Amino acid sequence: MRELGEHIVRPPRSLLETAKDWSAAPSSPPLAILEPRSSEEVSQVLAFCNRLQIPLAIQGGMTGLVGGANSMPGEAVLSLAKLNRIEHIDTTAGTALIQAGVTLEQLQNAAEEHDWFFPLDLGARGSCQLGGNAATNAGGNRVIRYGMMRNAILGLEVILADGTRLERLDTVIKNNAGFDLKQLFIGSEGQLGVITQLVIQLQPRPTARCTALCALDGLTKSTQLLKLLKGVLPELSAFEVMWSDYVHESARLQGLALPFQAQYPIYVLIETLGHDLSLSVSAVENALQQALLDEVILDAVLAQSEQQAQKLWSYREGVSELLTALKPCAAFDVSVSLPKMQALVLDLQEELTNRFKEQHHLFFGHLGDGNLHLISGPYPDPEDLHALEELTYQRIAAYGGSISAEHGIGVVKREFLHHSKSKEEIDLMAQLKKLLDPKSILNPQRVIPS
Ligand SMILES: Cc1cc2nc3c(=O)[nH]c(=O)nc-3n(C[C@H](O)[C@H](O)[C@H](O)COP(=O)(O)OP(=O)(O)OC[C@H]3O[C@@H](n4cnc5c(N)ncnc54)[C@H](O)[C@@H]3O)c2cc1C
Repeated sequence: MRELGEHIVRPPRSLLETAKDWSAAPSSPPLAILEPRSSEEVSQVLAFCNRLQIPLAIQGGMTGLVGGANSMPGEAVLSLAKLNRIEHIDTTAGTALIQAGVTLEQLQNAAEEHDWFFPLDLGARGSCQLGGNAATNAGGNRVIRYGMMRNAILGLEVILADGTRLERLDTVIKNNAGFDLKQLFIGSEGQLGVITQLVIQLQPRPTARCTALCALDGLTKSTQLLKLLKGVLPELSAFEVMWSDYVHESARLQGLALPFQAQYPIYVLIETLGHDLSLSVSAVENALQQALLDEVILDAVLAQSEQQAQKLWSYREGVSELLTALKPCAAFDVSVSLPKMQALVLDLQEELTNRFKEQHHLFFGHLGDGNLHLISGPYPDPEDLHALEELTYQRIAAYGGSISAEHGIGVVKREFLHHSKSKEEIDLMAQLKKLLDPKSILNPQRVIPS
């Protein structure tokens, strides 16, 4: 490794600490940590490792939930942490050219300083990197209005396993000159190449944010509420559903008071982003009034200040506290069509509470996107954890859902991929991997079942 230079190869220090994401998947101390600072250096590292067949764990912000970035025995780590420059923000076109290791929050703040807005948002914003967001095609809280990470990417630079640099840093939406190759790498979880730079489309900065929390008597009502709000609130940017256990645990762990005096089966957090606060507020008030009259909701609280809005969001954002408190746990991220969601949740709730009596099973999700999350734990015995995964994914498959809505497959869901992809699709994925990474040095033994 010395050939790569001391400024790239970091000697083993706190290796275990750096080698673990937020999943319960195992990790091993890596051979070395490689920290290139430029696309050229990434290319140099890959060419070297490809030549010597050194397998790599590609690491972004390590906030993944499926173990994809954890290093396995015999692997070196390729960290993108030092590629953390925002190269340019075009304030006329609203585009940002950034290196892959820039964190989501860094870009959100920089966009705001230039009077633009980057809408992708998730609880891990302070640590996750844009390269990681692209590699996982991250979703988050505002997909209902702005789409997933894929929708924000205009251009991408990728380094292939042999060091070949594919630079397609487009700044325009329209480019149909041949295959749109960047799409192949978005959501490919580091299987096909290493993302080193991105061109991101920013959005006009909203100046009016309205946040409200609604109390409902069941999930069916939340789909009615979604329909109602979509019809009257074009500015709707978040529609987050939480079951009561989730809200109670999240509040308890963060020392927050419960949002209403009474307790309700379902809570829905809504947000609108617009440009005229009084118009936005009255639109949300009218919509909630209508929902109360129609008995779609039972109660609601509308934040009167940014501080109150933050507080309402805190219930939803307790994910990191819950993941920590329920360790070792499983964090499910599945999608299913809205008409089937109610039956699926009831089915899972009954099965899990009967079978895993000691554990918490906390449901929440980006309901506007048909995306359901479940945190279930703690499972001190790995066999129980595996049995839980088996059972849950079988159920999802039976309801025609996807085993991964936004977190990807990594290691954790690898052996369950057949529930969501046909044999022919998995074969094609394996062929693409072989074509682009014939020596399998990029994140081997992940995503594609052996
Ligand atoms: C509290 C919390 C809340 C979360 N909420 C959401 C949510 O709402 N929506 C959502 O989608 N996700 C969510 N996540 C999951 C996670 O934050 C996302 O998957 C995120 O996109 C991962 O980014 P990262 O930089 O941390 O990637 P890592 O965890 O470092 O890596 C993830 C995968 O991408 C690969 N990778 C990373 N960087 C690159 C690169 N430059 N080139 C090629 N491959 C690369 C890795 O090898 C790995 O396979 C949450 C996680 C936590 C802890």
